[in-house]
Amino acid sequence: MIRIKTDEQIALMAESGKVTGRILSELADLIRPGMTTQDIDNYVEEQIRKEGMIPTFKGYNGFPASACISVNEVLVHGIPSGSHPLKEGDIVSVDIGATHKGWVSDAARTYAVGEISAEAKRLIKVCRQSFFEGLEKCRAGNRLTDIGASIQTYVEKNGFSVVLDYVGHGVGSKMHEDPQVRNYGEAGKGPILRKGMALAIEPMINEGVADVVTDKEDGWTVRTRDGKLAAHYENTVIITDGDPYVITLDERDR
Ligand code: MG
Repeated sequence: MIRIKTDEQIALMAESGKVTGRILSELADLIRPGMTTQDIDNYVEEQIRKEGMIPTFKGYNGFPASACISVNEVLVHGIPSGSHPLKEGDIVSVDIGATHKGWVSDAARTYAVGEISAEAKRLIKVCRQSFFEGLEKCRAGNRLTDIGASIQTYVEKNGFSVVLDYVGHGVGSKMHEDPQVRNYGEAGKGPILRKGMALAIEPMINEGVADVVTDKEDGWTVRTRDGKLAAHYENTVIITDGDPYVITLDERDR
């Protein structure tokens, strides 16, 4: 069942979104070679707690950290570590959530570590833009699958592949609610979008093949099967009567 949020609930989610959006924006300036993914996680947790909010991911299904931090060929769900400093030329995706008075926002970005290859830059750019292609469809009266169709078309036109195994989702008092929001498929299907729906729209795209594998040892880390790069970009979006309301996008990132 897709839960429609009241204005009060949306206001609480937006307060949370302001914090997640700000943290992700600040990370763009902070991330540099030599930093570990544990350093990034520490910053995220400290900033969320400083606002009196709860890092949604910590303990979620047993996840051990506040942020999923995924380097290079890791698509999603990377576990922060203090033993592998980021290197010049790496790309790193950071996915975070904050719970505020019981209401959640969820967002992710992929960052360059120092100077990166032209192809890596293009992957990050296409991933981000594919979100905005999907966002254009986030209007009351449209169908849910209009979003994913738009994302897939844009990504494939640019020569990258859309991951099929992981999807966006409804978000609210829980991080994962109905509906699933696929980043692919045919337009014009599924539920009609209505005012008050809250969706985490999160294209996950690969430089090479779409296939991914989950690490057997830690049970979390999801890597591209071919070892090529992966990128992730996510915002929490509220469907309104007019333009979609992106609650996790900092002014500086617009
Ligand atoms: Mg999400």
